[in-house]
Amino acid sequence: MSLPRLRTVLDDLAAYQPSEGVYASARRPHPRPRPLSANESPHDPVPGVTEAIADAGATINRYPDPGCGALTRALARTHEIAEDRFAVGAGSVALLQALLQSVGEPGAEVVYAWPSFELYPALADLAGVASVRVPLADDAHDLPAMADRITPRTRLVIVCNPNNPTGTAVGRDDLAGFLSRVPPTCLVALDEAYYEYVRAPDVSTGLDFCAAHPNLVVLRTFSKAYGLAGLRTGYLMGDARVVGRLRKACLPYAVNTVAQRAAVAALELRAELLRQVDATVAERTRVHRALVHGGWEVPASEANFLWLRLGANAVAFGRWCTDHGIAVRTFPDQGVRVSIGSAEDNDGFLAAAAEWRTRTAADA
Ligand SMILES: *Cc1c(COP(=O)(O)O)cnc(C)c1O
Repeated sequence: MSLPRLRTVLDDLAAYQPSEGVYASARRPHPRPRPLSANESPHDPVPGVTEAIADAGATINRYPDPGCGALTRALARTHEIAEDRFAVGAGSVALLQALLQSVGEPGAEVVYAWPSFELYPALADLAGVASVRVPLADDAHDLPAMADRITPRTRLVIVCNPNNPTGTAVGRDDLAGFLSRVPPTCLVALDEAYYEYVRAPDVSTGLDFCAAHPNLVVLRTFSKAYGLAGLRTGYLMGDARVVGRLRKACLPYAVNTVAQRAAVAALELRAELLRQVDATVAERTRVHRALVHGGWEVPASEANFLWLRLGANAVAFGRWCTDHGIAVRTFPDQGVRVSIGSAEDNDGFLAAAAEWRTRTAADA
């Protein structure tokens, strides 16, 4: 019997692989693994947010506000930019999908660095946009090489800043130089999912360049610094004319009531949440120092995770972590990304990493 005919892209597309040992699965050696695979906030939700969630729960027989009005107003106040320059989505991945669908014509290409955010390739394939991957140089974006790859077919360039999974960030001057090389007809998306964790003084947000470059959009998320990963809310900022059209590529009612209300509450409690980010940044410094001291090669990170360049040993080390009750993200033949979690979970990871080095030194 024949099966229904679906797009052939689905035959080749790799299904998203959740990290080993985290969710209910066959290979879950520890009942409560240390959750260092998904770059989430290690902090429990703050009371103001859980109260907003409870209040919103009482209204879920009604559809959400399709225009995310209250949230958009709160975002506009926070960023001091006009409301019509925002689009809100069910996670910033939904906005990335909208971006790719908005440029997905036959022959269209998207340029991005590699390795970078794992979902870019799948979203591009689904939208029918051909991926042009430009290798990182020393774990960082090679912006001149990316600019060299732009052709009349290029409709979108994605710059993940700081880059997931390596944690490196693009500096202001390099970004300015790059933007001046992109034709105004080609969209540029700066994925700033980890912007709140940046401390390097020479890194600035893409927002500073939006006035000069209407082809630039900036993506942010409530999933990381704001601690709302489970609710799926992200947003995009850019030129009102561009954003207004991109918004049409988003499903109406996609951002649910609970998420909208929680995100507004999180913005009201922003100062408190940004203090939690400070704590994560301090832990990042501590874990990075300990790893480097232990002989690991780890680039300086501007995000809430660290990148262990392991090459051929990546899978073995990822397994080692899983078996030691630590969930990490493995990139086969490249490296392992470990999130900065609670001090206790970070210590658990450092102990497992140190033990691995002792073991491999003994084997050698
Ligand atoms: C985590 C992450 C996101 C956030 O996705 P949401 O859909 O908002 O949870 C976006 N981009 C990158 C690079 C990320 O690492």
